[in-house]
Amino acid sequence: MEGKAIRLQSLRKSFGRTDAVAGVDLEIADGEFFSMLGPSGSGKTTVLRLIAGFEAPTSGTIELAGSDVTRLAPFGRDVHTVFQDYALFPHMTLEENVAYGLKVRKVSKTARTKQAREALASVQLADFGARRPSQLSGGQRQRVALARALVGRPKVLLLDEPLGALDLKLREQMQVELKAIQREVGITFVFVTHDQEEALTMSDRIAVFNQGRIEQVGTPAEIYERPASAFVAGFVGTSNLLKDRAAEQIVGSQGTYSVRPEKIRLFTESPGSAAGYKPDHSSATGTVAEVVYLGDATRFLVDLDAGGRLTAVQQNLETSSEDVAAFRGSRVTLRWHQRHNFRVPEAR
Ligand code: ATP
Repeated sequence: MEGKAIRLQSLRKSFGRTDAVAGVDLEIADGEFFSMLGPSGSGKTTVLRLIAGFEAPTSGTIELAGSDVTRLAPFGRDVHTVFQDYALFPHMTLEENVAYGLKVRKVSKTARTKQAREALASVQLADFGARRPSQLSGGQRQRVALARALVGRPKVLLLDEPLGALDLKLREQMQVELKAIQREVGITFVFVTHDQEEALTMSDRIAVFNQGRIEQVGTPAEIYERPASAFVAGFVGTSNLLKDRAAEQIVGSQGTYSVRPEKIRLFTESPGSAAGYKPDHSSATGTVAEVVYLGDATRFLVDLDAGGRLTAVQQNLETSSEDVAAFRGSRVTLRWHQRHNFRVPEAR
């Protein structure tokens, strides 16, 4: 059984009349890559700052590795925070930047040079130690910030949207690198992001935040395939919900159902035709309202005859952008296997 790196109990934080964190219970295991995902203002950063000790909770407790640290100052906690803006010292070389924290802790010069070099090597910047931050790309700067965090070997690394300032390509590259570094060093990562794709690709588990509360905690697959609420279904992935009359007619029962766009196939023939019918499939007729060409795939937004709208994503196996544009306004049948109708629990 793995130990618990972090345990939050009934955690609350109010700023005046705003309940930034409105009762959070959470356990994060040793060595986990854990993401806190949610829209702007949902309380993720505040939870991170509470764990780091930059804010004191209004009520509730915070444990790190089994000890209550709720009342400890930030420097008394075995965590390190990496902020979005990196906060590197411009007048110092990278090696000095990385070694700085060790110097403050009175580690000997030989030991800190050795450790700083190792940390730079772990983020693939072994040959860059003599440069200054201004001589680096954004992604390299990000890696220096990470090396500086890793050098002290904290038990827990808190990362607040660390890739937010990078362009898409660099961001995707850093996602892979960050995950590899985390696997290698075995430190617990708590990663704040509002980017659902980032959370899905990097995390062992994700907590989805909404208005200061956690709506669901689970693995990426659990969150994506079995959303615990309509909010989660909508925030993680495209909101594709069947409800009211559409649920009754298409799924055959009342309630709210989520069906992921990539599970839906789109046909131009009518559902009654031989090719269009399968007994264990759900089908729906409608009109294509919008076509979005994505290069590798196309997204079709279909207004259903039964009410509501579904998005279907099809790979562009043989179609081009001219072909897909012609679909706008056409009558189509959507079909997907019944097992992809996931009933979304009612709001609590
Ligand atoms: P973002 O993704 O935009 O950073 P977030 O999910 O991290 O959002 P928080 O920064 O935790 O959200 O903020 C949660 C709520 O608390 C917001 O309504 C915010 O305005 C409020 N808040 C945060 N810090 C303070 C503060 N120091 N004083 C007053 N209100 C605050």
